[in-house]
Amino acid sequence: MLYRMEGIVIRGTDYGEGNKIITILTPSHGKQGIVVRGARKLKSRYSSLAQPFTHGDFSFFKSGQLGTLSSGEIIEPYRELREGIETAAYASYAAELCDRGIGEEDAGGYLFHQLKACFAALAEGKDPQIVIRAFEMKIAGSAGYAPLLDECASCGRTGVPFRFSPAAGGALCGNCRHKDPSAMELSDATWKLLRLFAALDLRRLGQISVKDTYKLQLRAAMRKWMDHHLGLKLKSQHFLDQWERLADRPVPEQQPPRSPEAAEGTD
Ligand SMILES: [Zn+2]
Repeated sequence: MLYRMEGIVIRGTDYGEGNKIITILTPSHGKQGIVVRGARKLKSRYSSLAQPFTHGDFSFFKSGQLGTLSSGEIIEPYRELREGIETAAYASYAAELCDRGIGEEDAGGYLFHQLKACFAALAEGKDPQIVIRAFEMKIAGSAGYAPLLDECASCGRTGVPFRFSPAAGGALCGNCRHKDPSAMELSDATWKLLRLFAALDLRRLGQISVKDTYKLQLRAAMRKWMDHHLGLKLKSQHFLDQWERLADRPVPEQQPPRSPEAAEGTD
């Protein structure tokens, strides 16, 4: 049967002589695996359509598990996402979250539009740490493990200071704190951002400027949350971790610019 649908390439694997198998996330048919013949050959019409992060229109024949591309067109190549190491790292992580962190039944139109908005925001140069933390929250929501942020996840109390506990399911009040001694203390600003991300449709994400300390808290909180609930080690996450740690390295102040060798060895 011939299908035609919009989709975003979230995964690509080499297959046989010059071919590729791609996975696309669609707004209407979940995730679809498609063989793109000759995708790795220079002269192929469809090599750019099969590139990671490409948003396109795909026509393919399908009888069993996998489809075979018959034709297609690029809607938005998101070339910027592949060109910089940083944007590529964040976009790969977002794509892998959709690929491996979302079940077929949860991959619907909402997720498609959130991923598309995430890619667009990264391509526009919005703060990738904010974009990706908000996207992690969208993944948690789509997969059914969004944190409780406005009431104690254990007793339901509201309007009191909370700690953040992935094991308990979100906020934990003072009375219930003993249930998770490792619950994290977060600043008010970080709580606000977490609540904002939970309610936000990424298509409406503006330019948010967030202090580095809060970004670090957000990262630590979402990392713990995702590790606890997703239970997957993603390849792209390992690289992103290294990248973000590198970005944290303090820039020495009140010092004249030095050669790279001289700047080494401070940690
Ligand atoms: Zn409580």
